[in-house]
Amino acid sequence: MTDESTMTPRKATLRCAFCLKLNRVDLDRAADRPVCGDCARPFLLDRPVKISGEDLDRVVRETTVPVLVDFYADWCGPCKIMAPVLDELAADHVGELLVAKLDTDAYPQVSASLGIRGIPTLILYRGGVEAARETGAVPRSALDQMLVAP
Ligand SMILES: [Zn+2]
Repeated sequence: MTDESTMTPRKATLRCAFCLKLNRVDLDRAADRPVCGDCARPFLLDRPVKISGEDLDRVVRETTVPVLVDFYADWCGPCKIMAPVLDELAADHVGELLVAKLDTDAYPQVSASLGIRGIPTLILYRGGVEAARETGAVPRSALDQMLVAP
């Protein structure tokens, strides 16, 4: 047994943006630009990935690193303020954190089931369970705080 085998492999379940196939993405090799097993096009993990309402549950349950989901809408001003902050966060934590975006206009039933009243709402999931939540535009320091919270 090596030390490595005792560690949980870092994996994410993500849908390919091109062919829409669900993939198990090896985040330990995130820096090597993982590609879709079906169409061989890349997963871009240094920026937030768009996910659908149908995929949310599966993505947060099957991804072994924390998942920060930005529940946003295109018309929302504070969401636009958050976008570059989330881009930066994703780029700083490639392979350690999955940053995802979910369009609340496209999936209103998801917002309702999660009790989301304002956007942006940022929910951090660990092991498929909500661990922290922030509503409204927040500074990068607030996101960093969410990541270290137990
Ligand atoms: Zn593909």
